[in-house]
Order: sequence, then C-alpha cells, then structure tokens
Amino acid sequence: MDFPVYDVIVIGAGASGLMCARECARAGKKTLLLEKNPAPARKILASGNGRCNLTNSRVSPAFYQGDPKLISLTLEKFTFQNCLDYFAALGVLTTEEEQGRVFPATGKSTAIADSLRLAVGEAGVEIQTDAEVIRIKRNKTFAVFTKAGNIFQSHRVVLACGSCAYPQLSGTQSGYQLAKSLGHSIVEPRPALSALCIRETALSRLTGIRSQVRLQVYQTERVLDQAEGEVLFTHYGLNGPAALNVSSCVSRALKNGNVSLTLNFFPQLKDPQRFLQQRMAVFPNRRPKDFLVGILHESIANLLIDFIGLRKNIPLSEQSPHALQRLVQIPCAWPLTVTAVRPWNEAMAATGGVNTREINYNTFESLRCPGLYITGELLNIDGKSGGFNLHFAWASGFIAAQAVSEEKTYGRHRQKNNQLK
Ligand SMILES: Cc1cc2nc3c(=O)[nH]c(=O)nc-3n(C[C@H](O)[C@H](O)[C@H](O)COP(=O)(O)OP(=O)(O)OC[C@H]3O[C@@H](n4cnc5c(N)ncnc54)[C@H](O)[C@@H]3O)c2cc1C
Repeated sequence: MDFPVYDVIVIGAGASGLMCARECARAGKKTLLLEKNPAPARKILASGNGRCNLTNSRVSPAFYQGDPKLISLTLEKFTFQNCLDYFAALGVLTTEEEQGRVFPATGKSTAIADSLRLAVGEAGVEIQTDAEVIRIKRNKTFAVFTKAGNIFQSHRVVLACGSCAYPQLSGTQSGYQLAKSLGHSIVEPRPALSALCIRETALSRLTGIRSQVRLQVYQTERVLDQAEGEVLFTHYGLNGPAALNVSSCVSRALKNGNVSLTLNFFPQLKDPQRFLQQRMAVFPNRRPKDFLVGILHESIANLLIDFIGLRKNIPLSEQSPHALQRLVQIPCAWPLTVTAVRPWNEAMAATGGVNTREINYNTFESLRCPGLYITGELLNIDGKSGGFNLHFAWASGFIAAQAVSEEKTYGRHRQKNNQLK
C-alpha cells in the first residue's frame, strides 16, 4: 500500500513541536505536524496564568536541572535575544516584567499561540489534530501509526510530545512510551514546579498568608537547593514561587529519603541572627509577641512563639537563655519536613524524562535511532519558574529543525557528540 511520505513528521503541536514544524517547513521540508488534541498549543494557552511567560532575560544554565553541557550549548545557540527576535518577527509585541519575565504585551497567551498557529500554516506545515500517535516503526523510513488507524511515512521524526505533567492540559506518558519503543531509556519522571506537602500540621494555621523567605532544602544535613521569594502557606504546606522553584530538587531527593527545609523570614538581611540579637538589646522588656511586631506577620509570629516555647506574657529579660537562643535562631531557619510534592495534576513541569546521554548535544538527534529527534519537556531537563521551560522548548525545537533542514546525518555528528561528553 502507498502511504504519503514526508520529509519530517513532528509529533506534538505544543511549544517545541510548533516551533520545530514551522522551521522545517520554512526550510522547504515537506512537514506533517500530528497533535492528539482537537487543537494545538494547550499548555501555551494556559501558561503564565493565561499570560504566557515565554522567556526570561536572565536565561542561563543556572535556572535548569539536567545535563549541563546540553543545556549550555542549547542556550548558546538560541539565546534570550534570539527568542525575542523570533517572536518579534512573528509579529508579537512583548514586554519584560520583574525578574526578567517576558510576556506578550497583549497580556494574553493567545498572542503567542495564535501567532505560532498562523506562522505554521503560512510556512506550509500540514497539521492534523485529533491524531494521536500510538506507534512508530523504523525501517528504511519511519512509519507513524495513529490511534484513528492512519499510517504516515517520513524520513525523519521529531518527538515533541511534552511530559506527563498536568494531564488535564494534554500531559501524557505517550512520549516516554514512544521513545522507549525506539530504544531510549527514561529517567523516571517526577512532578516539578509543584507545591510542597509539609509534615508539621501547625503550619495550616497560616493558610492564605504570604511571606518573603529564603528557603533551603536539606538531605542528611547537605544543602541541596535554595530559593528566595514568596511562599504561600496552605492547608497542606507551601506553595508560591520559592516553594515551586525547589520542588524539582525535592521531588528527586524524596526518592532517596527524608527531605527537610528551613525558612528564613528575613531574606533581605545579611545577618538576621545578629539583627535579632541587637533588637533584643533594644527591647528587653517586651513580651515575645511585641518583640516581633513590625518584623513578622502576626500569625507567623504567634506560631513561631509556640514552636520556640517562649512564655507569652513574660518579658524577654525573664525568658530562659535557651528560649532566647531559639528566638534568635528559629525565625532565620525554621525547620520543616517535606512529605511529598503535590501530584501531577498540579505540577507545571516534570523532572526526569528521556535520558539526554542518548541525544546528540548539537542537533537533538537520537543516538539510539538515527533520524529521530527528541525535544522539549520530554527530555530530562526542567527549568525554574519564570519562562525557562518555554525557552528550552522553543530552543530545542528550533535547533532540531535546523539539523533536520541541513540534513545533518547521524554518522557525521556522532563523533562530535562523543567529544563533548
Ligand atoms: C499550567 C501551566 C503553566 C505553565 N506556565 C509556564 C510559563 O508561564 N512559562 C514557562 O516557561 N513554562 C510554563 N509551563 C511549562 C511549559 O508549558 C512547558 O514546559 C512547555 O509547554 C513544554 O513544551 P513541549 O512542546 O515540550 O510540550 P507541550 O507544550 O506539552 O506539547 C506537547 C504536545 O504533544 C502532544 N502529544 C503528546 N503525545 C502525543 C501523541 N502521542 N500524538 C500526538 N500528539 C501528542 C500534546 O497533546 C501536546 O500538545 C507551564 C505549564 C503548565 C502546565
């Protein structure tokens, strides 16, 4: 039977797949983009609370977890400025907000999703929605099978299926299964950019309160990660940017044992313990609650006073030396225990995915299956909150498309990649 033969089939019309398909078609490749959903770009539309934080002016390897060499090469090839220029050329006006976060100036993610959708069409990409790929067979060419019973052939395939995070918005295991079937190994995916469940139930007294903190993650007394910013206290534990930003590390560490955290409520101070000691000398006759007036949210102060074991109606000068010592230490390093990271349906990304040692660092071509390319969040690379995940999705899709378009071959690049490792 004769099936249509494409130069390249891109599987997944998310951030990475749309970028990749457009660039392949612009380079003159006969390109088919297959998407399992009725419409493309579902996560782009939901991203950044519907505003799409598409990149970040601070983009650098420090904001990513995963293979450092692959990350730095990717960010060198597709920089922050490249990203801005790319979307400007698509006709999107962007604006930079605090901490380098870039959004479309319309304040709506539709600006990005619709511009990409139009550009993909204008470039001549053939797009099929409701087309879930369930199997790929590699012979001389690739045969791509959809759930609906269609079969397509192509010389190259790009897997841009994303991760299993946020299944209600297209997150699926499908990409891992397809990659496995073509010889890849998978680093077990775990929820990232997700809130933290905390054992200390007294924390629920703070539900709804926000605070600026410095947060440190420990395992067996080793600092694994840290973040500074806002946390939101919830009935189960901690949400907010600072908690989300350590969640990838916490997720991975939890499989090795207990994970603890400390919260410092004075991230703006260089030496907060010294600050509290000096304050004690200024206000020796204040009761604990009054001592903390003006520097801590009242509810946080009350909870810490209970935790420290201070006698509430006694001035500091009459408290025990041990309690006073704890009053200096605990607000700067309040110890908490993490029991879990919130589940997949709350996780904005996955840590884990296709093993990047099996990917050509320069082209995103598979080292296991020549002609196959793997991009975006399907790979074992994840970024912090702030536009870093979308940046990596665009970058990897763009670089893979260049390689497909230049017809770089596996053999020629294998040697180069080995030198990099
Ligand atoms: C709620 C939310 C908010 C976010 N906000 C931001 C943000 O503001 N900034 C940021 O940088 N990141 C954000 N992210 C993360 C970011 O959206 C992802 O990292 C990014 O979309 C990954 O791009 P991708 O192309 O790899 O995967 P996706 O965008 O997930 O695209 C994968 C596509 O492949 C399709 N697919 C999967 N399997 C198959 C198959 N077998 N056959 C056919 N199609 C298939 C899926 O339906 C999907 O359309 C957010 C994520 C979520 C969930």
